[in-house]
Amino acid sequence: MRLVRASPVVQTRAVGGPADQPDYLNMVIEVETVLEPLALLRHCQAVEQLHHRVREVRWGPRTLDVDIVAYADMALDTAELTLPHPRAAERAFVLQPWAWMDPQATLGGARVSDLAARAADRGGLALFEPTERRT
Ligand code: ADP
Ligand code: MG
Repeated sequence: MRLVRASPVVQTRAVGGPADQPDYLNMVIEVETVLEPLALLRHCQAVEQLHHRVREVRWGPRTLDVDIVAYADMALDTAELTLPHPRAAERAFVLQPWAWMDPQATLGGARVSDLAARAADRGGLALFEPTERRT
């Protein structure tokens, strides 16, 4: 797998779930890979597992979620894997970092930046500024 580009990290208010959740950090990466979609999903899940083990002790489940937003222009709908991700087109926390990374990106025929501007959760999103920076 080769990393092609990575978005900035955005800080977003939780969408759904309990009301008192802390903010989330989200980013999008673009990769080139020889893995088929299902093998890529397995790889994402293996990465989650590695982090879950550490996280379960301190924070409880779901501090890392690695999803496949899209795989080239492939459309797929199986029990295990839906492509593009069924909720990506309405989530600013996916669309906005994606649009910043790749202003030309499209999803289902629409420009990702346009979808981001229309997403209901766009108001709860800001660039993440780490409190400590290495220079
Ligand atoms: P979330 O929906 O919050 O990402 P999980 O990470 O627990 O929740 O994922 C639940 C299931 O969603 C996974 O077991 C996986 O089989 C399925 N799934 C379907 N499409 C995708 C996709 N595009 N990317 C990641 N997981 C997917
Ligand atoms: Mg997931």
